[in-house]
Amino acid sequence: MILNAKDLKYLENKGPKQEVIFEEEDISKQENYLKQENDSKQENPKSEDLLFNSLKKMFADCEDDYIRQCLEQAEDDKLINVENQLMEGNYPKIKIPVDPENPPVTVKTGKTFMNVIQITRYNLGSYLSSNQIVYCKNIEGHSDLSLQFEKFLDGIEFYIPKEMKDKSAITSNQSLNRFSNLLKDLIEVFECPPKFIHAFYDNSNLITFNEGSALFFNFKIYIDLYKADPKFDAMTYWYTVICHALAHKFVEGHNSEYQYHFSSLVTKYMKSLVKKMI
Ligand SMILES: [Zn+2]
Repeated sequence: MILNAKDLKYLENKGPKQEVIFEEEDISKQENYLKQENDSKQENPKSEDLLFNSLKKMFADCEDDYIRQCLEQAEDDKLINVENQLMEGNYPKIKIPVDPENPPVTVKTGKTFMNVIQITRYNLGSYLSSNQIVYCKNIEGHSDLSLQFEKFLDGIEFYIPKEMKDKSAITSNQSLNRFSNLLKDLIEVFECPPKFIHAFYDNSNLITFNEGSALFFNFKIYIDLYKADPKFDAMTYWYTVICHALAHKFVEGHNSEYQYHFSSLVTKYMKSLVKKMI
């Protein structure tokens, strides 16, 4: 195959790689092409592995080679471009025999709650070009919290501070049932097992935190904001809080990457929320 410079540019962009033969007068172009190809192969293999691992967690049933091939061919924002491509669902799937006695909890296709909750590594590095900052002052780590399990709220674990003196004011609070019922409704919206959603009380503005695969939500914030408000407003608010906590499985901070994942989750589950509310 004989190629001119225009064809070469097309090949660089589109792949797959093909053997390229240059006309004699294009020797310098050939040298440049080989150099660029070599450079791209050596370009930060670790970051490519991170992208692969992230995509593999979201699309566990996709063949590994196909993910790597898509990453190789993608331009610019590789993670987003390949993720959007795989979200369409028509990728080669790994055939995993299903045990009829122990079927999978959910179908591992697309970004479901179960896919996201299992991500243990966030902060993949910057891959969005824009840098819109989203700020939330209420979210912090919980390392200074000392919580202990108090009781189940109809299947939802409830934690309170170990040193809490008058705990009956909280554990017998009539609003606690409303809060747990609200979380149960949202568990249905997100189609997740209750074991991933926990409630806690802490007299602070910490609204939510992640620990392992569990998301914790502060009953104190519910009391502050919604104990007397209409249920639908409270449901909408806590819906966004769950999306907020889930988005932190991807990214630690509140930067544009975070906003991307947060918006995706809000959009994905909104229909389910609306159905639950009408
Ligand atoms: Zn946050």
